[in-house]
Amino acid sequence: MTLALVAAVRNIRSVVGDKIDMKNNVKTILFDFDGVIVDSFQPAFEVSRMLRPWMDFTEDDYRKCFEGNVYEELLKIDKKQEVDNKQFFEIYIPKLFQLSVIKGIPKILKVLSKKYRLIIISSTISSPISEWLNRRGLAKYFSEIMGGDVHKIKLEKIRMIFEKYGINSDDCVFITDTLGDLREAKNIGLNCLAVTYGFHGEDTLRKGKPAGFIKTPQDIAIEVEKYWNKYKKCHGK
Ligand SMILES: [Mg+2]
Repeated sequence: MTLALVAAVRNIRSVVGDKIDMKNNVKTILFDFDGVIVDSFQPAFEVSRMLRPWMDFTEDDYRKCFEGNVYEELLKIDKKQEVDNKQFFEIYIPKLFQLSVIKGIPKILKVLSKKYRLIIISSTISSPISEWLNRRGLAKYFSEIMGGDVHKIKLEKIRMIFEKYGINSDDCVFITDTLGDLREAKNIGLNCLAVTYGFHGEDTLRKGKPAGFIKTPQDIAIEVEKYWNKYKKCHGK
């Protein structure tokens, strides 16, 4: 075989290999951002309350908004509906940049990214998330960031990912900290692992019937492995 032919065969193998890798071998982990990677509840609540001085807005009210789609729930309880998301993000984003990554997360992302495709699905807009991750040396672990600007409904973003990567709910698991996310994922048959150190506690999250609970960031990798091993046993995949 000529050298040129050897190189061509290698090239074909690598392309075919990539295709197999993209479609069959690599499982995808969808990561929520707020509450899973960064502890942003307090600044998000404070900005939301500050922008709605006409409301007697408590921490509990705000937490409850995440039991559904946060954009829709805020519209339901705020009768004036004078606050737009642009106003919120203008004040919130500088505060977000002051927050550190939750301890233990960088190490976990490094480990998981070697084996899985990692994608962020968030209600916060994409570009500041990307910049925030970049400044902390974490952006390299993610294939994609799909924020609230891509679509306000997480279910639609999950659909877009399935289509783009040619995958389905068998190939994915979603790690999130809110009941609203669990409910949206359920509507598309996507299993979730619920983080109990974020916006919602275990009792609230239980209502969304997650496939498992993650109590500390350090447990993420262990619970992900447990999930896929159990899934393989049940579905043979
Ligand atoms: Mg969250």
